[in-house]
Amino acid sequence: MKYDVLVLGSGPGGYAAAFRAADLGLSVALVERHNTLGGVCLNVGCIPSKALLHIAGKIRMADEPSHGVSFVKPTIDLDAIRQHRQSTVDALTNNLAIMAKGRNVAVFHGEGQFTSHHSLTLNKVDQETETIEFESAIIAIGSRAIRLPFIPYDDPRILDATSALQLKRIPKHMLVMGGGIIGLEMATVYQALGSQITVAELGDQIMTGADKDLVRVFENANKDRMTFLTQTQVTKVDAHPEALTITLQDKDGERHLDVDAVLVAVGRTPNGRNAGIPEMGADIDPRGFIMTNEQCQTSVPNIYAIGDVTHGPMLAHKASHQGHTAAEVIAGHKVDFQPMAIPSIAYTFPEVAWVGLTENQAKRDSIKVKSAVFPWSASGRAIASGVTQGKTKLIYDAESQRVLGAGIVGSHAGELLGELTLAIEFGATLEDITLTIHAHPSLHESVGLAAEVGAGTIT
Ligand code: FAD
Repeated sequence: MKYDVLVLGSGPGGYAAAFRAADLGLSVALVERHNTLGGVCLNVGCIPSKALLHIAGKIRMADEPSHGVSFVKPTIDLDAIRQHRQSTVDALTNNLAIMAKGRNVAVFHGEGQFTSHHSLTLNKVDQETETIEFESAIIAIGSRAIRLPFIPYDDPRILDATSALQLKRIPKHMLVMGGGIIGLEMATVYQALGSQITVAELGDQIMTGADKDLVRVFENANKDRMTFLTQTQVTKVDAHPEALTITLQDKDGERHLDVDAVLVAVGRTPNGRNAGIPEMGADIDPRGFIMTNEQCQTSVPNIYAIGDVTHGPMLAHKASHQGHTAAEVIAGHKVDFQPMAIPSIAYTFPEVAWVGLTENQAKRDSIKVKSAVFPWSASGRAIASGVTQGKTKLIYDAESQRVLGAGIVGSHAGELLGELTLAIEFGATLEDITLTIHAHPSLHESVGLAAEVGAGTIT
């Protein structure tokens, strides 16, 4: 069997690449070691976490001020919640299988191992092996959770993102190690389901990618629900029958905390050293990322790499865009992957979303920028909906007033960010945004009003 393109890994990078290559008339083999397609994102990442956050949002609504309507205390049926998570995942992964079939993409299930620049051995679950030959290959084998040497992983009270999504039980007190997006989203789910949450973060703020002023709004909204410990390192986890004893180290010294569960969410590491990739000769950096150029091509000219296994943010939409680029380059198109901005969203309550340049980055790189903020306490829609804990911020070039970055915190911030991602890609200025009519009363009106603040047309 010889295919025009072999895609290794069926996450958002891999399936996007395979489908685009097939749509461009190439014969495609898609290799996936698990039984379902969709990778981390669909099976144990973006999608199941959002299904649980949807339910957490419903629970949370019940104890927020409801302006004259009172709700009874929610009762929680964990089986039904797990069922919602699983049926969401199943709907999407089954769709992928149908879409692959509809495009004549040959799907192979098994562990792939490159044996040359034009061949891969497939080790199937039934122990059989098969060789697949190809003209070009796209590596999309993703990343895995970082494991720390001092964590007693065998203890069932130690969770990673994957096991946390299973909701086996709701601990009384959970320590979340790592204040990144994944840790905070899972903290939000468990808090809504009844856990007391302590977040320990090594850096000087949680959500390190976002500007502090946005994060502060999130922290204030959650200060009665979670404890945030920054500049705090977990140095030891001792498993006792009655509790896990955590040793925390901060500027004041060492202290101990007893909890019922620990969620380890300290980041992810790329899988670049797997699947015979180093032996094949593709350049890999010391951290395990496969090196690529703007066409997503590795140092082996007919081999491409995309997604979490390459540099850049570990996000599904970055992986799928790279997948399209790699497939189009292989089909002979003159394209490259050079986005102006890749959006990031924490689907917490409230949501925190940012895109392009942040004020933190501008400061670090001495880029002269200004920022304009519209507080949601002045938004008619936010006041009417009781969601005034929010703000919309634009970061723009001090001279040209071109928008370089944006951050939004508040209800539906992730949905509101789309307009600003487009503005940055299109090189829009504050004036372009002020001249765009935003519907009243809406939350996205805050984008237009932030631009007016920057342009000086409102104060
Ligand atoms: P993956 O999705 O990791 O897919 C790689 C695939 O390759 C896997 O299916 C794996 O089984 C397969 N594979 C690996 N090696 C082999 C081999 N040798 N042979 C055969 N198959 C192999 N991102 C977002 O953008 N938004 C979110 O809201 C979001 N939420 C997340 C929540 C959680 C809990 C987690 C863990 C991640 C989340 N992410 C989110 C990150 C997102 O899941 C990843 O960025 C994305 O899945 C990367 O896609 P990928 O195609 O590079 O790789």
